[in-house]
Amino acid sequence: MSLPLLEGHRGALESCTFCPKLCRAACPVSAADGRETTTPWGKMSDAFLVASGSLPRNESHAALAWACTGCRACRQACDLRNEPAETLFDARAEYFAAGVAPAAVKAHVSRRSERSEDHARAVGSAILRARARGARVDDAADVAVLVGCGVDADDPGDPLADAIVAAAQLVGRPVAVLRGCCGRDSFAAGDRPGLLADASALAASLVGKNTLVVADAECLETLRVAYPRRELALPPTELVHLVELAAAGLPRLGRLGAAAVRYHDACAMGRGLGLYEAPRQVLARVFGAAPAELPRSREWGTCSGGGGLLPETMPEVARTIAESRAAEHAAAGGGIVVTACPRAARNLRKSGVEVRLLVSVVAASLEAASARPALGDGSAG
Ligand code: SF4
Ligand code: SF4
Repeated sequence: MSLPLLEGHRGALESCTFCPKLCRAACPVSAADGRETTTPWGKMSDAFLVASGSLPRNESHAALAWACTGCRACRQACDLRNEPAETLFDARAEYFAAGVAPAAVKAHVSRRSERSEDHARAVGSAILRARARGARVDDAADVAVLVGCGVDADDPGDPLADAIVAAAQLVGRPVAVLRGCCGRDSFAAGDRPGLLADASALAASLVGKNTLVVADAECLETLRVAYPRRELALPPTELVHLVELAAAGLPRLGRLGAAAVRYHDACAMGRGLGLYEAPRQVLARVFGAAPAELPRSREWGTCSGGGGLLPETMPEVARTIAESRAAEHAAAGGGIVVTACPRAARNLRKSGVEVRLLVSVVAASLEAASARPALGDGSAG
């Protein structure tokens, strides 16, 4: 094959190419873009024809591999459980290595070092704020926290410090906060050398750690799903999402004021990690009632358009997808959207939706519980 990484996807490529497009309605990108070529069938057929040498390996064919958020909705709709995103992300690596990736991707990758340094600085200052809120942070701790580099600079809260505060409270002892990255952005860009460098640095930082608490659903999906499939190894560390910890300790969460909250199943959290109940249990506990739902939820939850670098490569399409979610939210009654994915939050905010990250909700509820007077003094929680 002229795209060697696709050899392992030959079965999926052939199935999709000869499929009557059963998943076409599931794809948020083709629904917003309106072109046949951006349906899962179109993208997989194109990759198959390039891989088999029938089409040239050039910029215009490469661009189709980035017309995907990695939402896995096509897998949900596929009788064969094919995963076009897995194939397309490997195609990205081939196109990137051949120098035919979209200009926006190349520009994104060229800023990798700068982003890494910015993130390390942001984590350093978040540690100071988390300590000021009572979090115990110790580099030698056997529990590490990965806060994620996808947070939105416009987030009205403080998601990095919130993740540290919440993780330290939930584990009940000091935590080591990692300054690095899982490599999600490099993976989405097709930058395999960057992904390998991030994975190698992360593996080194996890030596001696028993548990890694992850705040960003996309990071955990990368570690649990993308790493093993690409033979990227980590030390034997338990990987857990912060919300899984919170759901396992519901009585520790304090009540926040009643609010009209709607939960958005971020693709990585739902179809990626299979975490549907834990976030709902947390929100029901914190707000005293089950969260409202979008018209399609859980396994059929709809993408926000924020993943897979789509906002960089196809900004208009990413905006159209977010506007569709915003319209569904408004039609269902509006309120605050809570999601576990910072990139989803960022894209939805651009469409005017009020969004809070689940990790910030958990931190606020734990702090409310800490401030709560002890049981028996007549106060309610
Ligand atoms: S993912 Fe499944 S339903 Fe979609 S085009 Fe491929 S084979 Fe067909
Ligand atoms: S993973 Fe999502 S965006 Fe990508 S092809 Fe499938 S449905 Fe479309």
